[in-house]
This record gives sequence, structure tokens and C-alpha cells, in this order.
Amino acid sequence: MSPIDQYSRAAHSNFAHHSPLDPENFADRHIGVDVPGLAAMLEALDQVDLDALEHAVVPPAIRLGRALDLPAPATETQTLAELRGLAAKNRSMVQMIGMGYHDTITPGVIKRNVLENPAWYTAYTPYQPEISQGRLEALLNFQTAVSDLTGLDIANASMLDEATAAAEAMTLMRRTSRSKSNRFVVDADTLPQTIAVIMTRAEPLDIEVLVTDLYSADAGLPIGDFFGLLLSYPGASGAVRDQQALIADAHSREAKVTVAADLMALTLLRPPGEIGADIAVGSTQRLGVPLGFGGPHAGYMAVRTDVQRQLPGRLVGVSHDAAGNPAYRLALQTREQHIRREKATSNICTAQVLLAVIASMYTVYHGPEGLRRIAQKMHLQAAQIAATLRGAGVTVEHDVFFDTVRALVPGRAREIVTAAREEGVNLWADGEDAVQISVSEKTSAAHIESVVGVFGAEAEGWTAVSFFGDLQRTTTFLTHPVFHEHRSETAMLRYLRRLSDMDLALDRSMIPLGSCTMKLNATTEMEAVTWPEFAGLHPFAPVQDAAGMLELVDQLEKWLVEITGYAAVSLQPNAGSQGELSGLLAIRAYHRSRGDDHRTVCLIPASAHGTNAASAVMAGMKVVVVGTDDGGNIDMTDLAAKVALHGENLAAIMITYPSTHGVFEDTITDLAALVHGAGGQVYVDGANLNALVGLARPGEFGGDVSHLNLHKTFCIPHGGGGPGVGPVAVAAHLAPFLPSHPLGLIDPSRGEVGTFGSIGAISAAPWGSASILPISWAYIRMMGADGLRRATLTAIASANYIARRLDEHFPVLYTSATGFVAHECILDLRPMTAATGVTVDDVAKRLADYGFHAPTMSFPVAGTLMVEPTESEDLAEINRFCDAMIAIKGEVDQVAAGVWPVTDNPLRGAPHTAESLVGDWDHPYTRTQAVFPAGVVPARKYFPPVARIDGAFGDRNLVCSCPPVEAYA
Ligand SMILES: *Cc1c(COP(=O)(O)O)cnc(C)c1O
Repeated sequence: MSPIDQYSRAAHSNFAHHSPLDPENFADRHIGVDVPGLAAMLEALDQVDLDALEHAVVPPAIRLGRALDLPAPATETQTLAELRGLAAKNRSMVQMIGMGYHDTITPGVIKRNVLENPAWYTAYTPYQPEISQGRLEALLNFQTAVSDLTGLDIANASMLDEATAAAEAMTLMRRTSRSKSNRFVVDADTLPQTIAVIMTRAEPLDIEVLVTDLYSADAGLPIGDFFGLLLSYPGASGAVRDQQALIADAHSREAKVTVAADLMALTLLRPPGEIGADIAVGSTQRLGVPLGFGGPHAGYMAVRTDVQRQLPGRLVGVSHDAAGNPAYRLALQTREQHIRREKATSNICTAQVLLAVIASMYTVYHGPEGLRRIAQKMHLQAAQIAATLRGAGVTVEHDVFFDTVRALVPGRAREIVTAAREEGVNLWADGEDAVQISVSEKTSAAHIESVVGVFGAEAEGWTAVSFFGDLQRTTTFLTHPVFHEHRSETAMLRYLRRLSDMDLALDRSMIPLGSCTMKLNATTEMEAVTWPEFAGLHPFAPVQDAAGMLELVDQLEKWLVEITGYAAVSLQPNAGSQGELSGLLAIRAYHRSRGDDHRTVCLIPASAHGTNAASAVMAGMKVVVVGTDDGGNIDMTDLAAKVALHGENLAAIMITYPSTHGVFEDTITDLAALVHGAGGQVYVDGANLNALVGLARPGEFGGDVSHLNLHKTFCIPHGGGGPGVGPVAVAAHLAPFLPSHPLGLIDPSRGEVGTFGSIGAISAAPWGSASILPISWAYIRMMGADGLRRATLTAIASANYIARRLDEHFPVLYTSATGFVAHECILDLRPMTAATGVTVDDVAKRLADYGFHAPTMSFPVAGTLMVEPTESEDLAEINRFCDAMIAIKGEVDQVAAGVWPVTDNPLRGAPHTAESLVGDWDHPYTRTQAVFPAGVVPARKYFPPVARIDGAFGDRNLVCSCPPVEAYA
């Protein structure tokens, strides 16, 4: 066939549904490869068209064989109009509910230049620190702010939300407490969603949770042993209490103490570290992050140094680079789930980096005086409300509070809340007898007048500041210059620009990270996220306020059901890891509902993602590893033996499909039959769904449950390490066990959520990271069934094209029997390393000199690189990447030939900074070779800001907050 024929054949078969010239076809914008590019790739693969490729790659037994039943694609213009229509169905209210979520002002300079800026939101988790210094600095500021405000030594770079942070603190305390008790005591005045998530997490771990009133007349700590105590400061009721005696008492009984604290309140109150707490947790939402119907927001955790090695999540630390300059990197990574697997202490992977960056920048912009002023104003306003209500004869329950006033109105709570709604204000009714009014940064004099008016009072003037007595904060915080130098908008703008300029994100080059699916995050998909009709929704507002949002949620759930072939989906999990835990807990609950309590064994292949094993342990399961054969496939003989061995104790198998080895295994249906035959359930990790959408459905080829990663397959940007959404999709028999939420705000007509039998709450908010759901909704809406299928096949074509081009330079480790990979490929660098001493690290760092982010390193096989191009990269970019890899192989060959020693060559010296162009040069390669290697155009050069970072030094000398300025001298 001539190239021309092939071109028209490809054009005909792949673009049949519309004119290729249609300027409004979104799929053609999303899919980077154009008609000639696709023809060239298919020719290299000996395939006539994408249909032929599908037949060659996807095992016949699992093929869907029909088009997905999704609405016909809408254009970008139409989609925005539909989103506007949905937004208009939401009701914008003044949110004074509190309960862990407070309205806030996102400074415009941060909203536009971080939240809406692809330089920040399209970045990856900073595993390649040399090209991630900007976001690492932002996160170090976050850690510094959290540790300063809480008065504790060390804080991590974010948790998924306050409730999961509290649950993680529970298990951390259990590991580190001297008490051997399994009892955990929780202050009854704790946010109900926090208690709910703790209950969910405690049950499979055999932790007994005792929720108890610690403050009424003869209360206090319960009799008997307990390993940990959770206090709330302020409490869910708004009360601020002196908890020092309780903490000392708990310590004397060998228990650890966590305080859930509001960082804004801590600008005025003595911090947890000073009242004796071991750990502090909470949310940083009110530091400039929109409510967004419950998320995403960054949770935080801070600890004392004695347990720093037990800290879950990611931690940014300071080290130095090869030139001796200070440089940031992720510290103590050997703690993390991806390394420790079933020995991991937490399954958190994707966290909330973008939101932590926003909170961090909010503290940088306002500084300590600014934050204190904001907090004082809130406190004054709350005091004014309290005084006014008291003046009008209303009982205000607590004398000491920060921003929340609790009015006791026996039998009248609903009526008052309803009356406030007439005024456009949402308050919180706690049962029939109490109303809570929570002041935020947005609260105005007019709001206060409306609110007190509902109680029949007239706002009184400002009262004197209420003093917190012994609880008044006396220590300084945010003393580092970074929190003082960016007060003008110009300074802030330039700081944000300077940091983002240091980083490589998708707005500069492809990020070919296997398993992570770094695809286009289209602007139209992003638009609705910051619209006030979505961003301003409080998660506990009456459901009718969120009618448009819930309609969107409902449609998205239906579409995901159609795409996956399952019966029901829950959008509550706010990361893949949480979807995994939900799915495994659903399996556990299912077995227990049938009296099969003994089914606790979870089979997991050796190649699985670290979260799988970590989640299984958190779900109370015992991990048994299944081997893989030489071809990288699950060893069916070993599997059969393990299934036979564990027989009636088998709970589940957890597999990834296509496999983490990047291959469509054709044994999947046999595998599922084998496990089902023994009474086990099949969990299909959906992280690789980008190879399946429109081609095959896990719910149909054997899966009982899957989690998806909307931040991979469905275009939610990675944000530098979060946010994410990890929906859990299940077959009908598991649907009753999906997550629920304690606040009963879930529309009863939507019976699939929150019904009897549920595993309970998995996230703090009913719909998790709700405000980013419009992104995935818009993606599916604009792609349609045909666009999605074409995207999947293009991603597969691109991966196979790369595999073909690079195989002779870096052998592709695994392919299917027909010689194809799925949507990613593993390049084996081990022979190269054995022969030359050049490591996978050297190659990864050298790619930065060529302007690329490295592929996934040493996962799932040590010493390899896993490349996933996605459908969004055009052929020119794919070729630029392949050319860089081939040029790098040429450099390795020079080392092999003895031209350069293994200890001193452009690979080992990588990455090279601009500084390497001046001063002494005593390397056997030239500066030009170092900085402008083949294909790098000087005018477009990206310079990594630091040279190779010494990770071990940073771990030995752990510094996890902003270093003194002299360090940079
Ligand atoms: C990304 C990933 C996960 C974990 O998802 P998070 O959203 O990061 O928690 C699990 N399994 C696989 C195979 C993945 O690639």
C-alpha cells in the first residue's frame, strides 16, 4: 500500500465520524497525533488502521465489541454552555455552617497564577527533584507554616483531608504508643465526618474506638488502658478548652495524644505543641482554598521528631546538590508505601499538593501579621454575634470560642436555619436544639445583621476582644523571610513565576511516566472548577443548593458505570489509594455478610503498585504474593497453587489490567474464573484504564470491583502530587457496601450511596474532591464514545511506536504473545548498567539536560524505565523524546568504549545547570556536550536550577522546614 493510500485509509477509518477539518472537534485537539502522524506510526507497526491495531493487541475474549453508550460529543463551546446551565442550578449562599469547612478569599494573584496555571497544576509528583525545585520550595513553605502554627517539629507535605489525617494519626499513635491497648479515645466534640472515617479505618484493624464526652462535670478520661487520644481544638461545637491536664493525664497513662486543630485559630491560640500534644492534624482549606462542595483541600499532619520516621505521606527535605548548593527533595522515601508495600504504615500516594501550594502561598502572601489580623477579625465578629444573641436573651453555650458561636434554641433549630436561608445564609443545625454560626474571612457586617436578625436581635457594636487567658498564643510563627518578602502583589506574582519557572510540567514537555498517565488537562475541562457556583458550595449545605452539581455527579457516575461495565460507582474516595481501600473493605464486608469472616487472604502479584499491598493490610487482609513468569505475566501455576493452598480463606486477588508490565495478559478470564471458583473476589486496579476505555470493560471480563484514577485516565491534572479522585466501581453484589456519609445529607433517591451495609465514610466529604469532577465530566462529554475509543487506541499506538523505535537501544522488557505492548512499555536498562556502570538514575537525570521529565523509574522492575506517552502527545514530541533517548544511548556507548570514564561523563554529571557554562571545567566532555546535547536548541533550552542532588545526605541531616537564608550565601 502506498503512503497516500495508507493516509486516506487511516483518515477514513479513524476519522469517519466528522470532517477532519472541523475546528470544533475536541477529540482532535485532545488527541495529539494527527492523521499523517497516525499513518506513520501505524506503518511502523505494520497495521493498516486503528481497528487492526485493536485486533492485534487486545485479547479477543475481553473485547467489548460495541460502541460505548455515551451521549454524542459536545463541542467545547456547547460543553461550557451546559456547565453554565448546571452551575445555574446551584444556589449560591453565604456559608456560615463551619463544621470543618469555611469560606475563604483566594487571593486573585494565587487563584490565577497557581490554581488556574498549568505550570503548577500539570506538574507531576516531585520524584525528580532537580526539575521540581519550585514546587518543592512551595511545599517546604507549607511544611514550615504547619509546623510553626502547630508548634510541632515536623510536618508533611499534605494529607488527603482532615478526617483521613486523623485516622492516620490513630494508626501512627498505635505504632508508637507504649500502651499495648487496642483502645482509642475520641473527644465527642470532634467533627462527625472525622469520627466516621476513624470508625471505618479502625474496624478492620481491631481498634476499639471510644467516643466520649471529656468535659462535662464529672467527665474526664475513661477508666482503663488506651493507646491514643484525639482531641479537637477548637471542638466541633466551637468551644475552645484548656486541654493541658487531659493531655498530661493521657501521657501519664502511656497514651499518645493527637490534637485536631484549626490553623487559623492557632494564630491566636497556644499551639498543640505547647500544650503537650504529640501530633496535630487538620485541614488547611480555609487558607485560601475554595470550599468546592467538600474538596479537594489539603489535610495536614505535624509530629514531634521522635516519630518523624513513622510520618505517613510525603515529606520535603533540604539537601545539597553536586555543586554544594542547597536543594530540595523528597526525604525519607523508604517510609512510603511504594517501597514498603505490605509493611507500609499508610497507603497514601497521591496527596493534595496543588492545594497545599495554595495554602502555602496564602501564608506567604499574608504573613504572620496578616493571618493574625484575619483571625482577629473573625474572632471579633463571632464575639459580636455572641454578645448580641446574649443581649437578646439567647443562650450561647460556650464562653470561650474562636470563630463559631453555638446558640441553644430548644426545639427551634430547624426553624432558625430555615429563616436564615431566606436571608441567603446557611447556618448549621445540630439536632433540634442548637444552631451554630461560623464566621469566615468573607463574613461582613451585613451577614451578621441578617443572622442575628433571624434570632430577633439587632447587631450590637464591636465588643472588646475576648481573651483566651492561658490559651492566648504568645509565641511567634512564620518568622522566616519568605513569609515577609511577598506582601505586594508584584512581589507575589514574581515569586510564583520564579518558582514555576524552575519546574518541568506538561506545559513544557511530555511527561512519559508509566502508570501515571500524564495526558492533556484541557483548559475547557478546567474552567468550571473556579466558578463560584461550584467553588462556593459547602459540602453540608442542604442538597437542593447543589442541584446542578449533583446532576453532574449523577451523570458522571452513570458514564463511569457504562465505561467500566460495573453496576455502581462511588465518587467519594479522594485518591486511588482510597478507592482501593474502599473496594477491599467492600469485599471484606461482603464476605462477612455471608458469614465468611475467615476470608482474609489477598493475593497480589509481585509487580503490583505499592498501594495495593498497603491497602490490603489496612483492610485487615493478609497479603500473599503471586509470582510472575519469565514473560512478565502472572504465573498461572503459582496462582493455582496459592488458590488451592488458601482455598476457603481466600478473600480476593488484586491485579492491575493491563498489567503493570504494560501488557494485555490473555489469561485474565481464566484467572478470574479460578479465583471466583474458590469463592474469592477479583479486584482490578483501574490505574491502567487508559488502555481499556472503549475497548474492554473490567466489570465484564471478570472484575468485581475496580478503582479508577480520574487524575490519570480522566484528565484531572496531577497538581504536582494531587489532587485526585479515586472512584470505586463495583458489581451489583458489592453495591450495598459502597461508602456512605454520616451527615445524612445524601439524597435518599440516590439509593446507591449511603445505604444499609455500607463500609462507612472513606473521606471527610460526601463526594470527596467534588469540585474537580467537572473536569472528568467535561472530558467524557466532549470526547464521546468514538473519541474515547480513538484516544485509547492512539495511546496504544504511540506506546507501541516508542517500543519499536527504542527496542534496539533499550530492549523492551515485556510484550504480549503477539509482540505488542499495551499503553506503556518497560525499557530494560539492566544489561546496559551491567556492561557500563551507567545507571537508570544517570539516564533519568540526563533526560533533564535534553528538556524531558524522566519516565517512571524502577517500577515495577528495578533498573528499568517505564514509558507511557498517552494519546495527547503529537508525533513530533514523541520523536523528539525517542531521539533524546537514542542520543543518550550513544553517550552510554561512549562510556562503554572507554571514551569517558563511568565516573565522569555527561550522564553521571547530569543534570547540568546554567552555572556549568562558566568557571572552571575539568571534565572529559565539553560544556556544549553537557548543556546543548543533540537536538537541544539553545534558544529553547530548559536549565535545571540545581545539579544532581545528594539524597542520602538529606536523609542523614533531616531538615524539613525553610532553611535560614545564610544557607544560600
Ligand atoms: C497511581 C496508582 C495507584 C494509586 O493511586 P493514587 O491516586 O496515587 O493513590 C494504584 N495503582 C496503580 C497501578 C497506580 O498507577
